[in-house]
Amino acid sequence: MAEIVIRNLHKAFGDFVAVKESSFTINDGEFFMLLGPSGCGKTTTLRMIAGLELPTSGQILLDGKDVAQVPASGRDIAFVFQMFALYPHMNVRNNISYPLRSQGVPRAEVRRRVDEVARILGIEHIIDRPVGGLSSGDRQRVALGRAIVRRPKAFLMDEPLGALDAEFRERMAEELRALHDRMGATTVYVTHDQLEAMQMGDKIVVMNHGVVEQWGRPQDIYDFPATMFVAEFIGSPPMNFLRFEASLEPGAETVVLSGTKVPLPRLEGPATSGRYALGVRPEHVRLADDAAFRGMVIATEYLGTTQIVSLDTPNGDIKCRIPSSQPVRTGERVGIRFDTGTLSLFDAATGHALALDRASPGEDVRRGKVRIHG
Ligand code: ATP
Repeated sequence: MAEIVIRNLHKAFGDFVAVKESSFTINDGEFFMLLGPSGCGKTTTLRMIAGLELPTSGQILLDGKDVAQVPASGRDIAFVFQMFALYPHMNVRNNISYPLRSQGVPRAEVRRRVDEVARILGIEHIIDRPVGGLSSGDRQRVALGRAIVRRPKAFLMDEPLGALDAEFRERMAEELRALHDRMGATTVYVTHDQLEAMQMGDKIVVMNHGVVEQWGRPQDIYDFPATMFVAEFIGSPPMNFLRFEASLEPGAETVVLSGTKVPLPRLEGPATSGRYALGVRPEHVRLADDAAFRGMVIATEYLGTTQIVSLDTPNGDIKCRIPSSQPVRTGERVGIRFDTGTLSLFDAATGHALALDRASPGEDVRRGKVRIHG
């Protein structure tokens, strides 16, 4: 079990900065997701936590002790590599016991621990089989067993389900999460799939171009995105942006979109002026005949119980998610209303969220405030 504190972690490869002054905290026992697009620095961060890559600067505190410059072998962390990387000439028992045998653990102890791991993973019935003929699910469980058997302080996983087809991936994701709930070991998990991160993670850190954009609980990140990047990266369809220019006074409770006043949670902070983006999730857009703000339906996408309706508005195209039972015709002009309490407001020049007086669902997020850059 371990708490991992990342403080100002920085990694440059020559002139190229792969990870820039990152800071976040992984609590003991958390399932923690490193999320972001390809090349954003997730794997480099994970490799630095593992000790496979040394940081240029910054700290990695493992249970309070800075291990940033300690080699991998001195960290007691298990890196679960590509799940299918098993020793093909060994049977399941020998694959799982390999790390213990190479540490010189006595035979009886090895046997006891392998049996225990096989029980946890539900693979007792294949323990003496060669790995060659196993299904991909069982191979994955064996690879996990090999990591678990060491009883490390933490598990690190780099896109472990990446190569799997969608259905199997979902099943393994559930199994992994259930296994984590049984064992309670700190787990750091890299993915570029926002749905996987939302479904599996206790916490998520969202990275972009080597920078931590935001970290926190999935719902807090979804409801209170700290940047326009996070607002777009999380959610499908992503958050809509209605763009406008304005001078905003402190305490403002409306913004004006193309001549129409739209109510807003009270703006905190100083007066500002410039270009802004009003952020609204598709499920918080309503079609209402009496609404003054208007747009035209340009497409509809039927999804069973709900439909996604694309709307052309004077402040940009947006999408809304409404019940399929609500009749909508392409080409028709409609009134558009937003659920005021859910709105976000961004400075379009910096991409950062402005503080609004919004009730927060999460204990970690102060009322109306979002944590920007960790
Ligand atoms: P992916 O999901 O594609 O693996 P990632 O978010 O895990 O992306 P990293 O693998 O951490 O990204 O890479 C971040 C950036 O650092 C990339 O642009 C990559 O090319 C660069 N990089 C990684 N390792 C090295 C290295 N050893 N030397 C030079 N550049 C590197």
